[in-house]
Amino acid sequence: MSRFWSPAIHNLTPYVPGEQPQMQRLVKLNTNESPYGPSPKALAAIASQTNADLRLYPDPESTALKQAIAQLHGLDPRQVFLGNGSDEVLAHVFLGLLKHKDPVLFPDITYSFYPVYCKLFGIDYTAVPLDPDFAIRIADYNTPNGGIIFPNPNAPTGKALGRSDIEALLSKNRQSVVVIDEAYVDYGAQSSIPLLQGSHCPENLLVVHTLSKSRALAGLRVGFALGHPALIEGLERVKNSFNSYPLGRLAQAGAIAAIEDQEYLSQTTAKVMQTREDLVSALGALGFETLPSSANFILTHHPQYAGEMLYQRLRERGIIVRHFKTARIENFLRITIGTDEQCKELVAALTEILSVRN
Ligand SMILES: *Cc1c(COP(=O)(O)O)cnc(C)c1O
Repeated sequence: MSRFWSPAIHNLTPYVPGEQPQMQRLVKLNTNESPYGPSPKALAAIASQTNADLRLYPDPESTALKQAIAQLHGLDPRQVFLGNGSDEVLAHVFLGLLKHKDPVLFPDITYSFYPVYCKLFGIDYTAVPLDPDFAIRIADYNTPNGGIIFPNPNAPTGKALGRSDIEALLSKNRQSVVVIDEAYVDYGAQSSIPLLQGSHCPENLLVVHTLSKSRALAGLRVGFALGHPALIEGLERVKNSFNSYPLGRLAQAGAIAAIEDQEYLSQTTAKVMQTREDLVSALGALGFETLPSSANFILTHHPQYAGEMLYQRLRERGIIVRHFKTARIENFLRITIGTDEQCKELVAALTEILSVRN
């Protein structure tokens, strides 16, 4: 603490990301990164841009990347907004589209950055409880609000809603922006992007994506939002009042190549989904109960063992998973889907931990 801090920062509760330990030979299953590298084409594109042109500022509008994203999703480039990771996109969304008189609504168990942005920007919010099965019940979002935001699939539950649920939510909620954070949508959930295509694009739907998870580029920091051109224009106003160059030359080049390599995306996500099903059944054989997941992680618990204890015992064995001290899920572990080998190591470790305790 310092007397030079402004009053605004004294009251902040910053987001605490999952740890990035520097130890070698860890089985790191705690921050939902891809166990596979990025598309080789993305790496080649980044290498080809590593030259003397780095002395020049990048294209502030990331025009070519917007074009590539628009083409992939059947949209107009004016429907695409880019940021330095989707966390930055979300920050601009909270300030630019969700800060109104009525509270923002999001689930009580969800991405824990949302309340952090609310505090930072002085936005009132209401946490809406998930139903007893940990699902988002859209009927619960039928109250006056300054905006609605949740991930689909939700994090850290992994549970997904269908596109028709999102349409139903939109039909009930026309007075504020609905933000669907699709960070994990490529692992088997239904995207809401088709709702944005063509002349019927709703004025109040925004879909947020990241290249950090399924595209395996968390280290590059690229995220984007898709929506009506008027919403995008609002976000550009915030961005250009904050940082005109959120994406560097390397990020733009790597992201274009990654977006264009759909083949690599479908291969690696299919592999992760297969590993997820294998892991869920192996854990089931040990007595774990796992929520159905459409993401590259699972939320699981064992009726006889405390989540915190399991987290610690795994850690001692060099296996890092995520444990949240959040009401209703304090006995759960959130486990990122790794390679088959990593998941086998995890299951072997849990088998050992449970046998010692019995
Ligand atoms: C990982 C994650 C993000 C942030 O991704 P970045 O693009 O790396 O900033 C946003 N929302 C959810 C729900 C996430 O899990």
